[in-house]
Order: sequence, then C-alpha cells, then structure tokens
Amino acid sequence: MSRRLQIAQLGHPVIRRKADDVTDISHPAVQSLIDDMLLTVAEAGGMGVAAPQVYESKRIIILCSRPNARYPYAPEMEPTAIINPEITWRSTEMEKDWEGCLTVPGLRGLVPRHRRIEARYLIRDGQPVETGFDGFIARVFQHELDHLDGKVFLDRIEDPVEIMMEGEWQRMIADR
Ligand code: ZN
Repeated sequence: MSRRLQIAQLGHPVIRRKADDVTDISHPAVQSLIDDMLLTVAEAGGMGVAAPQVYESKRIIILCSRPNARYPYAPEMEPTAIINPEITWRSTEMEKDWEGCLTVPGLRGLVPRHRRIEARYLIRDGQPVETGFDGFIARVFQHELDHLDGKVFLDRIEDPVEIMMEGEWQRMIADR
C-alpha cells in the first residue's frame, strides 16, 4: 500500500543536503519510496517532487505535468520516476516563469531556467534513458534536480521583487 508522505519544509536540513546516488534501484525500500512519492505528488497536485522533500536524501525525482489552474498551458506527462539524473546539455537561451514549491508553501517566484536541456537518468526498472526536454517540462526537471543538490527556487531568483505571496499572484494572473 502506498502512503502519502509528509513534505519537508524549508529550514529542515534535509532540504539543503546534497542527496546520494541510488545504487540499488531494485531494492524494495527504493521501489516503495517511488510508489509513495507518486501518490504524494498526485495528492498534493504538484508537477514534481524530489526525494529530499519527503526526508529521503536520495537522487530520485518524480516528474508529472498536466494542465491545472496555476498552469493551464502545462503539457500532459505520465508521472515518471527519474533516478540519478544528470543534465548533459543546456541551451544558452533562458526563460523566466513563475514557480512554486511544496517545500516553500505560499510563495511564488519568477525563476530563470534553461529553455532546453538534454538529460541522462535511470527509470525504475533500472534502464538508462537519454532524452531532451524543453519549455515547461525542462523547467520542472531543473527545479526538481536542484532539490537533489540542496537548492530551492528562491536561490535562483534574480530580484526579490519577483517573489509574491500565492494569493497576490493568483490575483495578478486573474487580472491579466
Ligand atoms: Zn520544489
């Protein structure tokens, strides 16, 4: 049975620690962590989650994307577990967009990210994957990979005026 996991909040040391590579993907504890992360991100309505956000300092992220009220333009992506991810190429072209984070509830920030990336990682059956992402999914990938290196989106904000409270941000996008 999968369990919905607690989300570590900014300030807990696990959020600032560099996570360890997963060496035994087939281990039942790793497989059940992945199942629990899939359930947790679905119930929280997130676009992704990283293992340190559920107090596990391991290099595992879940990416899932679907349109919602915050991101009506988000593409559909089957929830995928991504293990030991590395970015192998980044476009020089950057793009700024609004991000939020389950670990930093209530805040939104305008974050510059590489527009396109190429990445290498393992999936949950241990198979290696090399692929490219662009736009919104590339952004979620970079956000979640940052968590594995102890970074949060606030660290990448260029100007503190580009941080907003969720309620004010909702008002701003409703007025657009
Ligand atoms: Zn986050």
